[in-house]
Amino acid sequence: MIDSCRLCNSKRLKILERVGFEKQFAYYRCLDCKLVNYDITAGINQEKYAEVFIDPFLDNHPINLNQAASYNYIRKHVKSATSLFEIGFGNGRILHLASKDGLQVAGLELSSFLVESVKEKLKLPVMQADFMENTTLENIKWDIVVLRHVLEHFPDSEIVMNRIRDLLSPRGYALIEVPNIDSWELKYKRFLRRYHIYKKKYSKNFVPGHCNEFCKDSFSYLMKKTGFKLLSWQTYSHKPAVDLIYKVIPVGNKVRAIIQKER
Ligand SMILES: [Zn+2]
Repeated sequence: MIDSCRLCNSKRLKILERVGFEKQFAYYRCLDCKLVNYDITAGINQEKYAEVFIDPFLDNHPINLNQAASYNYIRKHVKSATSLFEIGFGNGRILHLASKDGLQVAGLELSSFLVESVKEKLKLPVMQADFMENTTLENIKWDIVVLRHVLEHFPDSEIVMNRIRDLLSPRGYALIEVPNIDSWELKYKRFLRRYHIYKKKYSKNFVPGHCNEFCKDSFSYLMKKTGFKLLSWQTYSHKPAVDLIYKVIPVGNKVRAIIQKER
């Protein structure tokens, strides 16, 4: 059971949905800041994703195309920067593109397999570490920090944003990517489930993996609270046909946001 919002402490919570094999997992929408709080007391899946290393030089691989789109988005909104730091760099495609553009780059990854693969393939300064625990980074300040699909996995998103602020130079930028809980597709699917038009089948061992689900309102609230200004918000999809629409109408499943440190 959850009695107040993890982000704004409001008691005004409304059940959004119950999911799972026995509907034992509950999501609550905060009526004030709009954050969707998953009740983590029911359990959280923190399993790491499968470790696969996609060659970062393959220009047309979907994983690389997606990272290239993220990197282009940074370049579109950040005009002057000399360095980029990525938390959870995967196969290192973004670090590779930034390095090719002449930026000083570095990154952290939890997976030592990915760290070793990127070191060998790209010869870039990367290390295996948990960015929430590693304290040796504080001396270096970066112009751009990249954090893709990580924020939603932490119960306390303020701690994560404070950590990113510490890593940034004054007026530095960050690219943050999260799922969009208010995407058309997710809203539509929730509607179908609510009215029992469609019943999602959950396996017996399904456990949710995200602690918080963001929309533009709750994300903006978090940024303001932690000393950032939201400069741009773009939704996207991995499906090319709808991706163009989502860039114009912000209802896609995933979000790219550029923020700037204000204090
Ligand atoms: Zn709230």
